[in-house]
Amino acid sequence: MKPIIVLMTNILRLDDHPALAEACDSGAPVVPLYIFDEAAMGRWVPGGARRWWLQGALKSLTADLAAMGSKLIVARGDTVAVLQKAMQQTGAGAIYLTRGYSPYERETEQAVHAYAVENDLLCRRFAGNLLLEPEMVENKQGRPYEVFTPFWRRACELIDDVAPLDAPEDMAAPDSWPESLPLDALEFAPMPAFWADPIAEVWQPGEAAARERLSDFLEEAAATYPKMRDYPAVEATSRLSPYLVSGEISPRRIWYETQRYIAANEASASGASGFLREVGWREFSYHLLFHFPHMMRAPLKERFADFPWRAGDGKALNEWQKGLTGFPIVDAGMRQLWQTGWMHNRVRMVVASFLVKDMLWHWHEGEDWFWDTLVDADPANNSASWQWVAGCGADAAPYFRIFNPIAQGEKFDKDGGYIRTYVPELADMPNDYIHKPFEAPEGVLRMAGVELGKTYPRPMLDRKAARERALAALGTIKK
Ligand SMILES: Cc1cc2nc3c(=O)[nH]c(=O)nc-3n(C[C@H](O)[C@H](O)[C@H](O)COP(=O)(O)OP(=O)(O)OC[C@H]3O[C@@H](n4cnc5c(N)ncnc54)[C@H](O)[C@@H]3O)c2cc1C
Repeated sequence: MKPIIVLMTNILRLDDHPALAEACDSGAPVVPLYIFDEAAMGRWVPGGARRWWLQGALKSLTADLAAMGSKLIVARGDTVAVLQKAMQQTGAGAIYLTRGYSPYERETEQAVHAYAVENDLLCRRFAGNLLLEPEMVENKQGRPYEVFTPFWRRACELIDDVAPLDAPEDMAAPDSWPESLPLDALEFAPMPAFWADPIAEVWQPGEAAARERLSDFLEEAAATYPKMRDYPAVEATSRLSPYLVSGEISPRRIWYETQRYIAANEASASGASGFLREVGWREFSYHLLFHFPHMMRAPLKERFADFPWRAGDGKALNEWQKGLTGFPIVDAGMRQLWQTGWMHNRVRMVVASFLVKDMLWHWHEGEDWFWDTLVDADPANNSASWQWVAGCGADAAPYFRIFNPIAQGEKFDKDGGYIRTYVPELADMPNDYIHKPFEAPEGVLRMAGVELGKTYPRPMLDRKAARERALAALGTIKK
């Protein structure tokens, strides 16, 4: 039998991998192939933190395949050119791939398909990284949903018996392997140690780590998820996002294990369903990206194309990026991002609102910074979420709803635990002032060892004036 090449680029796992399972079941030799095609991704080439992550995920996949007597072939360059060479070197007769939803993945898929047709090769495309394919969920008018709640209601009706596939037990090797690059040749880990080392302390990429995280989350936090998920000082969410981005765990596996947990723990059912609803937001983002592929850069609400974003100086943007705005919850979030490659969802909303509303900077600036620094930077979730906060996305928070960083801090980090962790220069501030050190009496600041403007910045802007400026800007694009 001729070997089958299985493209692993967007699905770095063995579990619940339909393309791989089908190839293995056929009994043909299987060649797992990862291609890093920078030109196809263009500006969406993975950022620094993601590249660090991918290096770890690929290392882990290499080891998992080796344990089965197989091998991960690693290549860099144009997908079709790499495939052509690999087909020649192995005598393969078929390409199996997992469907992607971003514009660059769709274009690459089309190119692979055209190449296969021209050369009389079999090319099969499998689903693998969503619960439901985007074409399956449509409203009564046959149109894509643009509001989350009806989308998720319909999706839940359509998701029935989810039975994820186990990892293959056998994988036949080809007589000759195509050439493969060492992982380092991808230059995925060029991050300086001062950036990468703290991230490595927090995260363990790879399929096994993802499965462990899911089961720990179900055991320890799923029951209280809806109640606790908004408190950034508490580890109450799954932290599965970076694994989902590279397909180290499948949403169907998450769904299945969570349903099993619900069946065994009826009292915790609503907590766990709340968690699945958030996984539903990921589905919704991908649904939007598929139907509105321009959304990675263009506002879904067209009138926002004329929004008068400020072309401010780079200094303010730099202060936001570094967590030096003088607003403690914003600074804690931006520093958590820098130090760990991840930020709590509640705080993501607060820092994003601060950038696009208080500072009036374009959401692209935030999208780009997140793209470079998040280990979970995701083409669908990042753009959908930034548009949601900026008010220009589907089902978005209205632009006039501006998060108050002080009130958000007081509500969700009452005792300031999150701020004390990431903004240590405020660690000794009393709870009453930790969210607004600029209002603290001189004596309180002195006791806490805080000197505003020296040990911790003064607020970079006047919130009242900033709010009025934001609302005035909104007025210019109102219909
Ligand atoms: C400005 C902004 C940018 C964001 N950028 C990204 C991004 O690049 N990548 C990313 O995965 N998420 C992004 N999010 C969404 C969300 O913050 C993260 O998915 C979540 O914090 C990940 O943590 P978790 O895995 O512990 O989530 P959990 O609460 O455990 O949720 C489980 C999974 O559901 C999905 N999910 C949860 N919340 C959301 C949401 N609001 N929108 C879409 N999917 C969600 C994620 O895949 C997540 O892993 C962004 C949110 C904001 C406000």
